Amino acid sequence: MSSCLKLSVVSQKNFFASKKLFNALQCRSVATTKLFIDGEFRESKTQEWIDLRNPATNEVIRKVPKATKDEMQAAVDSAKKAFKTWSETSILTRQQYMFKYQHIIKQNMKRLAAMVTEEQGKTLADAEGDVFRGLQVVEHACSITSLQLGETLPSIARDLDTVSYRLPLGVCAGIAPFNFPAMIPLWMFPLATVCGNTFVMKPSERVPGATMLLMELLQEIDFPKGVVNVIHGQHDSVNFICDNPDIRAISFVGSDTAGKYIYERGSKNGKRVQSNMGAKNHGVVMPDANKEHTLNQLVGAAFGAAGQRCMALSTAVFVGSSKDWIPELVERAKKLKVNAGHVPDADLGPVISAESKQRISKLVESGKQQGAKILLDGRDIKVDGYENGYFVGPTVVADVKPEMDCYKEEIFGPVLVTLSVDTLDDAIQLINSNPYGNGTAIFTTNGATARKFTQEIDVGQIGVNVPIPVPLPMFSFTGSRGSFLGDNNFYGKAGINFFTQLKTVTQLWREQDASGFKPATAMPVMK
Ligand code: NAD
Repeated sequence: MSSCLKLSVVSQKNFFASKKLFNALQCRSVATTKLFIDGEFRESKTQEWIDLRNPATNEVIRKVPKATKDEMQAAVDSAKKAFKTWSETSILTRQQYMFKYQHIIKQNMKRLAAMVTEEQGKTLADAEGDVFRGLQVVEHACSITSLQLGETLPSIARDLDTVSYRLPLGVCAGIAPFNFPAMIPLWMFPLATVCGNTFVMKPSERVPGATMLLMELLQEIDFPKGVVNVIHGQHDSVNFICDNPDIRAISFVGSDTAGKYIYERGSKNGKRVQSNMGAKNHGVVMPDANKEHTLNQLVGAAFGAAGQRCMALSTAVFVGSSKDWIPELVERAKKLKVNAGHVPDADLGPVISAESKQRISKLVESGKQQGAKILLDGRDIKVDGYENGYFVGPTVVADVKPEMDCYKEEIFGPVLVTLSVDTLDDAIQLINSNPYGNGTAIFTTNGATARKFTQEIDVGQIGVNVPIPVPLPMFSFTGSRGSFLGDNNFYGKAGINFFTQLKTVTQLWREQDASGFKPATAMPVMK
């Protein structure tokens, strides 16, 4: 008897249980995303699955499990057990694993990028950038022998020295968003584990594929079992991470709603939390700027990745006569090619979901209703061969005022809102009044103007003629104010601080107690 016929004879009482079973059986016809626990890929035993759709086609391409409580606990148990040996594994050995991981990620760059494009929608070139920026954090992790150095102060008093050690915390966890499927998980588990921690990763349920490939690569380099585990799910998995007593720290990147919630719930449970959240990044255009460079940078940074970057320049502030450049900006935006991400000449792909497209359209419409002008409207775009995809073409909304919803909300789509102000002081005041502090940029050829801006602006990451000023990992990702909660930013020195705790030893070895010994003559070998 088929599962469907079986369903027709079940009693009302068992209807819901059977529906879950039916869903579970149906799932088998589409590939499933596995869990990664204790070094092996495992099929989830859950009854609850999430459809993962290709944003360019709207087809269900995979099913993602909402891991059961037992499965999530198994991931934490595995990480807890692995911590005992991993934390005592020499730092040179951990560094060697990172060298190998760096190499194998490089070799698999195209494969990872293809997965990012399939699940997330961004263009292949942009997907390679996604992997590459994550790879740079792995490269940074290779410097762990310098990064994890403690401090010493000898002879604080006679024969008395103090030494500090940077030691791992234990089991840490990561919760990632959909927009950088490779880069953001790579911000998290490589740095955590190279410091000696073990990890439970929860990728975005909308784009788990890149994380799973990254786990395959860990297997290939014989990374010890249990040091990194992957669970999948939505709210239940997030709550599990926030509440589990064995998890010591949570690294989160995503929206404000989730970020504030996780920060609060995790902190209440005594965990360290670093929470990178939403943004509204302003690009200030001075009349003395290099017009060619500025317009190209604005267009690339507003519409690249379909605007789904937390550092997208989604808001242009034209100072004085620079507003006369807006028509030319619109012409350049019109020339961008919107297509499925794997199509070679695509400049931007679809947005992540039908709901996201709807939300973007609504915010653009609200701008019109509240008095702004839509100079370029990409909401009804049709892409040949991909009629069911979630495409939004470049959209420019001008004459926007700070009280409008399209200014107040993070749109997270290929929409540039433009405002005009009279002076640099007005631009600075506008940006400092906005609650977010992720990124901002100024376009000018005047060093004094740039300096005034960088001194007076209260935003964590500033670009001068650089539209997306995300620092490389030897620095940290320094979003501030409403874009960040926590004490230690991601990667760089701050990232190492986040994933380690200090221990100090103060020791008295009195000189008169020293005894003579025969010195060893062979060259010491460190292992
Ligand atoms: P999201 O908050 O919806 O999801 C992020 C993670 O949180 C996912 O793993 C998801 O399962 C979980 N989650 C979602 N809603 C939740 C809730 N209500 N409670 C608990 N957990 C929840 O974010 P997204 O849509 O995947 O990503 C886009 C957002 O991420 C944008 O706001 C963007 O600015 C932000 N982002 C910020 C940075 C940064 O570094 N500041 C980087 C990338 C993305």
